Amino acid sequence: MLKILSFILLIPTLAYTKPHMIAEVGKLSCLDRAKSPKSLIKEMGITTSGTKRSELKVVANTAETIAKMTNDAQAKRIMSGLKVFFKKTLGNNSSGGCLPAHQLIPRQIHMGRTCPNGYKIPNVEGIFVHELGHFVANKLGLYPKYRAQVKKRCKISKYMYQTSSGRKHKSINEEFAEVFAAYLIYPKKLKRKCPQSYEFMRKKLFLGSEAACL
Ligand SMILES: [Zn+2]
Repeated sequence: MLKILSFILLIPTLAYTKPHMIAEVGKLSCLDRAKSPKSLIKEMGITTSGTKRSELKVVANTAETIAKMTNDAQAKRIMSGLKVFFKKTLGNNSSGGCLPAHQLIPRQIHMGRTCPNGYKIPNVEGIFVHELGHFVANKLGLYPKYRAQVKKRCKISKYMYQTSSGRKHKSINEEFAEVFAAYLIYPKKLKRKCPQSYEFMRKKLFLGSEAACL
């Protein structure tokens, strides 16, 4: 009886595997390694401020991956003009939770390393890729196109339809940023569960190139 019971109890636990954000489950090993991060960043027209070597690598590896999937011109179209700031802490958001990143100033991604209470923010690399999704959408005016062309909502991470505090939202912007991150670091599930979103990214941003790590 106990065995049966524990088996029954296990089912909902197993079914409940949806991540809060793609950043938690994304594989950074899907990203290519930039040989000389500093020069690539300069070449792409990106500026960084306050970055440690490991953080610089995250930005450069993302640029390298996009350039390899497409070409240098397209990678520049996606990333040029970007300014990335890494700071010790960005403080709290309006609902009192720790803020890992923001883009309150156009063309600037601000990333935090720790919360005001000293808690180290996990998955910073994945969060950067998500933030880059917002940057690209703003730069190339992709939110309205995504809304018009992708009719089926993608829900492979909770953040696509819920806030951090669990409140439901209908912001297409967060779905877009999560889909962008998934294309780069979690593409298998994206292609299977959200084919329309996957195809939008493939055609609109990646010049028809399939994601790595499929
Ligand atoms: Zn976001």
